[in-house]
Amino acid sequence: MSLNKTPRASRYHIAFLGRMNSGKSSLINALADQDVAVVSPVAGTTTDIVHKAMEIHGAGPVVLIDTPGIDDVSVLAAPRIARTRRAIDKADCAIVVVDATTGEGEPELEVYSYLEEKQVPFIIAINKTDLVDDELGSTLPSAYAARNAPYIEVSAKTHSGKEELLRAISALAAKAEDRKGPPLVGDLFDPGDRVILVIPLDAQAPKGRLILPQVQTIRDILDHGGIAIAIGTKQLKQLFSSRDLAPRLVITDSQVFHEVNQIVPPAIPLTSFSILFARHKGDFDLLVKGAQALDRLRPGDHVLIAEACTHHPIEDDIGTVKIPRLLNAKVGGELNYEWQKGGDYPEDLARFQMVIHCGGCMLNRKAMCSRLKAAAAAGVSITNYGMTIAACHEILPRALEPFKC
Ligand code: SF4
Repeated sequence: MSLNKTPRASRYHIAFLGRMNSGKSSLINALADQDVAVVSPVAGTTTDIVHKAMEIHGAGPVVLIDTPGIDDVSVLAAPRIARTRRAIDKADCAIVVVDATTGEGEPELEVYSYLEEKQVPFIIAINKTDLVDDELGSTLPSAYAARNAPYIEVSAKTHSGKEELLRAISALAAKAEDRKGPPLVGDLFDPGDRVILVIPLDAQAPKGRLILPQVQTIRDILDHGGIAIAIGTKQLKQLFSSRDLAPRLVITDSQVFHEVNQIVPPAIPLTSFSILFARHKGDFDLLVKGAQALDRLRPGDHVLIAEACTHHPIEDDIGTVKIPRLLNAKVGGELNYEWQKGGDYPEDLARFQMVIHCGGCMLNRKAMCSRLKAAAAAGVSITNYGMTIAACHEILPRALEPFKC
């Protein structure tokens, strides 16, 4: 990851929805002032989700998400619609693009009610206004005024209405500021405090760089006036024995939680990167309850291990090797595991007794919350890697202590 770019997961996500050939891709290109989405006169050209990162004045760093047509009836329609639903799951807001020459119909009305059900604020962009005659143009506002969303007349071709649409997006983004989660770590120490980050430099650590959770945590410590001290596991013992360091907080990689717990004196608060992300990106209490429910697992129960990105598993991989080993030891027998990696997430969660999710550093808060809500709606306990490892080593109470008011 480049250190001078906002990671995608920290950007405001805007999904563009609409029928095939309503001009979603052209509108994205017009907003981005470059050809980022595939534009074709052939209906249904956007078959995969396309993401474009950009800055919008007033909204800050955003991601524009292009989606397949909501009226696709081809044999490939079902997976495309599923992908569109997943795009909505991570969208902070949506732009429903309506072709002004054909107007709204059943597909748009269904999308409005789906967005309302999912509580995703949206703007109706009445596109192709350059193609409507004066008579039809004069009737447009009254047709959309009844909707529970702002509507804006635009033309992706002439760029008319573009600035108004950007302003409307900024207004929605400003409202979303209130719904942001807690800071990653900045409220757990005072300016000037030292915060130690334990970063194991083992075979799993990528060569020559830090991983996203570590980079984001360091940045958040600096943003809040703290002193970030990054250290390898081997040097940690030496650091504590050589001088009075008096750190306010120690944050460790979950994989060395057990070892670090034995080194860091009990009076010093200790937690993990994964637990910080659990609070920053999701429903902390739900994940804590999920970790406590690990005690109720029995051999033979079904456990989903979900990772939000794909990476090549290496020896002693956390999701496929370490967590199953720890959990089997905890329950005293074999559990039945299934793994899900990347952007997909199963819809039939009710068949699992437990979902264990990675820290989700590649997901935005909205996407993570959608995953948590889906588990809660299916009546399945859900927790994350850091809490699972802490619970298996019986150090969960200590790892949660820094978050108590
Ligand atoms: S598996 Fe999860 S926590 Fe790990 S890098 Fe991918 S998204 Fe981030």
